Amino acid sequence: MADSDDNTDWTIMAENKLMVDEVRLSFSSMKDFGECAKRYYYRVTAAESAVPNVHMVFGSIVHDSIEKYEKNDKELGELVGWSLHEWDRKMASSQFLGGKAPRPPKSFKRMYDNYINEISPKLSKEDARIEHFFKLFLSYSPDGEVPIYFVGKIDRIDPNGIYDWKTSERLPDLYELASNQFFAYWWAYREEFGADPEGMYYGHLGSGNLYNIDMSTVLLENFEALLHKMSSEIYNAWEQDEFPRIIGYQCKQCPFSGICFRELREEQGHV
Ligand code: SF4
Repeated sequence: MADSDDNTDWTIMAENKLMVDEVRLSFSSMKDFGECAKRYYYRVTAAESAVPNVHMVFGSIVHDSIEKYEKNDKELGELVGWSLHEWDRKMASSQFLGGKAPRPPKSFKRMYDNYINEISPKLSKEDARIEHFFKLFLSYSPDGEVPIYFVGKIDRIDPNGIYDWKTSERLPDLYELASNQFFAYWWAYREEFGADPEGMYYGHLGSGNLYNIDMSTVLLENFEALLHKMSSEIYNAWEQDEFPRIIGYQCKQCPFSGICFRELREEQGHV
């Protein structure tokens, strides 16, 4: 799901408290909030401060390329050329490299080769929705004033079901194939189309394998309960303007660690 869909509309009131007009909750923002509320807060209010790691940049370029392939009929060579150009452009404007641009962590060519020659021939060519955006009403806030939505983007929906493209090198394990993200997609599909999808697939671009996700109805109910619980917790956080930092191992991969630790030093009077 795209991070750019995680925004929450907000304005600043006179006493410097945030007033929320609408909460748009995505799977990524739920995950952020669950691990560290401050990261969620930065994602919404200071998205421009994010410094994505090389794997995030690589993944976003691959997803854009697949969209180009599907919508504009681009060939493998064109996709690789565009990707390398995009990689150089993003690295040149990156804040964290100190002028030294790394090479892509994985091969763009292999990802596209696998998609075009291994995965694409197995896909339905009819009625495919590429990068399908959804915005689904969840509930109103307890005071009835603020609508809360669940938003996100699904890589592909076609008559055979839902597809999610992954760019890791490693083959997925049991836990990755049971990620909450798949419950989120299934739940969203059911809400939007009023029926279950035919199937759901983890598309591993590094190998060209398609993994079937076995959906359990009971676990889907658990996800729905979690969604409603998180939506009310996030709304309360906005109400009380409380987004505590949870410092831990997750800071290592956090795109907001720069702004977060700088502000922490300021708050502690170390600067
Ligand atoms: S760096 Fe750590 S404490 Fe700060 S926002 Fe990120 S996860 Fe939270």
